[in-house]
Amino acid sequence: MLFKDCLFCKIIKGQIPCCKVFENEKILAFKDINPVAKVHVLIIPKIHIENTGQRKHIDILGELLISAEDIAHKLNIFESGYRIIINRGKDAGQIIDHIHLHLIGGEPLNPIN
Ligand code: AMP
Ligand code: ZN
Repeated sequence: MLFKDCLFCKIIKGQIPCCKVFENEKILAFKDINPVAKVHVLIIPKIHIENTGQRKHIDILGELLISAEDIAHKLNIFESGYRIIINRGKDAGQIIDHIHLHLIGGEPLNPIN
């Protein structure tokens, strides 16, 4: 199901343009509009899921992670490495309530610790 007020649902429906890098029947991946590294792609399910804590969506969560690997190959960053991030909630800076992985790489990234 898609939500009419959700930005990512609008992208899925084609109501808002995106720079698509990968798509299959379950997943859409497109370039982040405000990249933090040379490669910064958002990977989203084609159904509106708000957060990671729903066991009924375990398949699609796995699909997102496996797709990230395929997309890293496609973008030629599999060998050089990459980071996958899920922001969850206010303190993490989550601004879109449609679950998404950030796939980031293409250059050395700052350590997170
Ligand atoms: P988050 O903070 O995890 O919710 O990340 C949301 C991400 O969506 C941010 O990195 C934004 O730059 C990105 N974003 C917002 N609007 C768009 C858009 N129209 N197309 C691509 N990326 C977007
Ligand atoms: Zn949505």
